[in-house]
Amino acid sequence: MTARTPGPGRRSLQLLRRAVLAGALCAGAATALAQGLGAAAGMAPPQAASAAPAPGLPTAKAALARARGADLRGDTTAALAAARAALEIFVTACPGDPRCDWREQWETHLLLARHDLRSGMGSTALPHANAAVELARGVGDAPRQALALALSADINGQQGDVAEERRLLAQALRMARLDGALGLRAQVGLHESNVLRRRGNLAGAQRSAREGLHMAREAGLRRFEVLHLVNLSDALVADGQPRAALQAAEQGLPLARQIGDARGGRALAHNAALARIALRQMPQAMQMLEGLLASYRGSGARADEAIALREFAEAFAAAGNLPEALRLHHRERELAAQMMAADRDAALADLRRRFDQEAQQRRLERLAGESRLMSARLDNRQAMQQVWAAGGVALLLVAALLALMVRRVRELNRQLRHNQAFLRAQSHRDPLTGLLNRRGLHETTAARGLDLRFEGALLLVDIDHFKRINDGHGHAAGDVALVEVARRLIGVVRDEDLLVRWGGEEFLICVGGVDAAHARNLAQRVLLTVGGAPVAVPGAGAARLRVTVSVGYAHFPLPPAHLPLAPERAINLADMALYTAKNRGRNCAVGLTQALATDAEGLRALEADFDQARLDGRVLLEQLAGPPLPSSQAAAAQPLQPA
Ligand code: GH3
Ligand code: MG
Ligand code: MG
Repeated sequence: MTARTPGPGRRSLQLLRRAVLAGALCAGAATALAQGLGAAAGMAPPQAASAAPAPGLPTAKAALARARGADLRGDTTAALAAARAALEIFVTACPGDPRCDWREQWETHLLLARHDLRSGMGSTALPHANAAVELARGVGDAPRQALALALSADINGQQGDVAEERRLLAQALRMARLDGALGLRAQVGLHESNVLRRRGNLAGAQRSAREGLHMAREAGLRRFEVLHLVNLSDALVADGQPRAALQAAEQGLPLARQIGDARGGRALAHNAALARIALRQMPQAMQMLEGLLASYRGSGARADEAIALREFAEAFAAAGNLPEALRLHHRERELAAQMMAADRDAALADLRRRFDQEAQQRRLERLAGESRLMSARLDNRQAMQQVWAAGGVALLLVAALLALMVRRVRELNRQLRHNQAFLRAQSHRDPLTGLLNRRGLHETTAARGLDLRFEGALLLVDIDHFKRINDGHGHAAGDVALVEVARRLIGVVRDEDLLVRWGGEEFLICVGGVDAAHARNLAQRVLLTVGGAPVAVPGAGAARLRVTVSVGYAHFPLPPAHLPLAPERAINLADMALYTAKNRGRNCAVGLTQALATDAEGLRALEADFDQARLDGRVLLEQLAGPPLPSSQAAAAQPLQPA
């Protein structure tokens, strides 16, 4: 059995420095020493007096102290549980927290590496050793880096990676030599003799162990003394020197008891038992053997137990006790299988944990990506909604505007139509009297179908000597007289009859669907209504003017031929009758009662020379007298010419 762990030493200030490097102190003493060392090295103490410890740190420190105690007792199970608890807190609480002492984390990794190895879980031991290397390298602590490198070399070697073992050990030895501290060299030397022993270089292993023993004694580090004696006795047994091996082991056993190094003591007893088997001291050997195996099993150091079983089996075989050798060999195989399974499970669990972490990370990244995508989509949707809302508002505004415009256009159209109708109506009306004008007459006769052939009564009314009113009383008085005559004529005709201002002081009355007697009566009423009462005009003072009219009238179609006549020609004939009325002294009506023409030609000849036709008797006239004029008023409208 070789030594794999450093042991405690007696404490003097000088010795403590070495001891801490070996990670072999109780928690309180180690912390105090670490602070002292930190101050000596110009480093900040792990916990500044003013700073409160980070949450959980006291728990971690207590767990580390428990792990150290279990390590000293050789209780791998308890050491692992406590160190794992401590590391869990260090890892979560320490990054970036200046109140954490990295050296405690380093020591925890080292404990975990050694005890994982001892419990047969080499696959998790190596990462801890490497983490310790990195921590020390990170702060430039060469002694701690050398120790962690030596342990890593040892683990690599045990796992069969000889090249890595060689490289790391050489690095560790170089750094220890450079540092020069005996304690450090003695501890790194432990790993060196392990490595040499594993390579089968028994002489080299013995030499390394003796050198280490010497250095440990020089430095007063009795724990390393014990451990080098373990390695020396182991190499001697393997080298077939059981007596010398027993001597070395027995040299170390009281020392181990003295310093309370149970694990070192167990390793020495182990080697002593092997030596006794080789020396055929079977009863003593068997007595030691079962106690040792029980102790290994009880401490959870299954790898140590397996090594013990293998070494004892080989020793019994070499001593010729084959049944015992076989029994131990079977136990060793069984334990090896269990260890392999446990190591595989631990490695798988570690792998699964890392996979779970990665999967969780990937899931978180995916969720973050989806969340980003979702929020981008929501932003887009919101933007679209805003666009639609703005579009909607714009549409509503446009619609409202359009509605307003349509209403306005309708209103304007309505006004336009109204104005057009008004204008049209106005264009058909005489502005002074409000009666139809010539255009109005044309439109109305056309509408009534009288534009081609006029049938009914036709009267042309002309105010007598109207010029005198204008001349005598002014144009305004003339206008007033015109309006009054128009008003009186309106009173004479029916609503459906057409009353037109035909010219300056001339009016036309068209009455459809009546007989000749109606025409005569109408002419008579016109004479009486207009001329029957005087008219008040401005400028005439209190005087009222007597205004008379002359009327030419006829009823169409004219007997006896009843030839059809267009309205213009009928009006022309009525005008000739009016002309006759003027000639006959005014204030009278002349009616054309017959036109003796058998055809249109004859009628045209008659129109061309009305006076001659009258003399020839081709036209027959009748005459109606106007109202008699009072002599006082006669002057206003006078002189009336006699017929
Ligand atoms: P007669 O008896 O032969 O019809 O004689 P008269 O004076 O009535 O006829 P004349 O043709 O000689 O004169 C018509 C006058 O009517 C001439 C014109 O100045 C006047 N007159 C025409 N239109 C208007 C009008 O709207 N207002 C006014 N005040 N006078 C008008
Ligand atoms: Mg006239
Ligand atoms: Mg006149």
